[in-house]
Amino acid sequence: MKQHFINNRHVAPSSGESIAVIDPSDGQTFDALARGNAADIDLAVAAARRAYEGAWSRLSAAERGRLLMKLSLKLQEHHEELAQLEARDCGKPFKQARADATAIARYFEFYAGAADKFHGDTIPYQAGYTVMTLREPHGVTAHIVPWNYPMQIFGRCVGGALAAGNTCVVKPAEDACLSLLRVAELAAEVGFPEGVINIVTGYGHEAGDLLIKHPDVNHVSFTGSPNVGKIVVRAAAENHTPVTLELGGKSPQIVFADADMDAMLPVIVNAIVQNSGQTCSAGSRLLIQRAAYEQVLERVGQAFSKLRVGSAAMDLDCGPLIRKTQQERVAGFLRDAAADNIPVVAQGQIADGAPAGGFYQAPTLLRDVPFQHRLAQEEVFGPVLSAMPFEDEADAIRLANSTDFGLVASVWTRDGGRQMRIARAVRSGQVFINNYGAGGGVELPFGGVKASGHGREKGFEALYGFTVLKTIAIKHD
Ligand code: NAD
Repeated sequence: MKQHFINNRHVAPSSGESIAVIDPSDGQTFDALARGNAADIDLAVAAARRAYEGAWSRLSAAERGRLLMKLSLKLQEHHEELAQLEARDCGKPFKQARADATAIARYFEFYAGAADKFHGDTIPYQAGYTVMTLREPHGVTAHIVPWNYPMQIFGRCVGGALAAGNTCVVKPAEDACLSLLRVAELAAEVGFPEGVINIVTGYGHEAGDLLIKHPDVNHVSFTGSPNVGKIVVRAAAENHTPVTLELGGKSPQIVFADADMDAMLPVIVNAIVQNSGQTCSAGSRLLIQRAAYEQVLERVGQAFSKLRVGSAAMDLDCGPLIRKTQQERVAGFLRDAAADNIPVVAQGQIADGAPAGGFYQAPTLLRDVPFQHRLAQEEVFGPVLSAMPFEDEADAIRLANSTDFGLVASVWTRDGGRQMRIARAVRSGQVFINNYGAGGGVELPFGGVKASGHGREKGFEALYGFTVLKTIAIKHD
């Protein structure tokens, strides 16, 4: 059984209980995780508190940055090992898992450089005063991480929190946390003091809930589903603990008839099939101007019909979904589409040789999806793209803003004025013009509006969220 990692040591769960680790590629159990409970959470939070008040707070910002850089280099050395762990645990094709291993190292590199460049201000005030602001860490920060990109999300939230001077207790998802336990071991090897990075595994409603409600936790970074996001905010309100919420999306890809079709097609397809559609920022709605509707559907359909799904090791376009219930959920969306006569334009195929028992789902392109249908409103979290036509700019904006979500949007047009009009009118945290996702963009602030959450992570901006501002006013003559 994999144990918790607290105070730079493996710690057995005090309950003695475990959770099975299942390989999504074949549905077989291959390991077990510690099932965290209140005693384990207490131990981890106490370790983080001791570190925060002790060894960690004695380091200068530059020294913290150097440690973060050492970790980045160590992660690069262990790139292939981490990618293999992530691929098996999450069912990711190796190329995706390798990209994730690259990304986590880049997060620590970025935040290593940022640690000693983040500071407060002085404020011009009345005569006889000097006023300054300090950017202080919250203290002990809790991080609730989902299963879809464990390494990337750990890098972005823990990297930012540590650079700002906090200590961390991480509760990864019960479906995928092997890579993070290894990252924590590597952090200990490069010299992170005891208690700075602690990992408690377990279920969300047990270990996660206890962590959020813990009175000695000073900030919560939650990445996950909108429904659990609501539960988290209510739980954190108990102790007035501030929360950053990174939730889901139903992100529109808006295509005008003048778009560069050749450049656009592979990007549009990748935006929904990457990680088998299990991406918060998946471009799951395809809004196409009527004049180009048939042409774009035909070409995206051709691309979909060539997509192949297989195990992580087969390294095809898509891997399996994370678990059986997720596979059933996506199948349920497709059954609803069929019942409501929503046409399927094209589907990919599950490749010969994909192991029996894996949670596979063929990528599917649907057309003429009514904007109020659940396929156009709810997060499927699978490789399903819902296309619909629009007439003009106003119509495109209305459709783009017609869901509860607001995470990411893309606009494909050669018209510069239209690019900016749409970018300003769409309610979302990021807008991409003639691209989608900008390759991940560790440097680019990320987060949502509406049901996609609040607060920003990634980039320098994250450091504001991982600190509190203190104003000091000095009266002198
Ligand atoms: P989830 O909300 O079910 O779980 C996320 C995490 O929360 C897991 O670690 C889980 O154990 C924990 N959790 C569950 N119940 C909890 C509770 N009551 N208290 C505390 N923690 C609890 O989400 P998921 O299915 O793991 O992930 C998919 C969702 O995450 C999607 O909605 C996706 O869009 C979203 N997501 C968002 C981003 C982003 O940056 N905006 C990134 C990745 C994923």
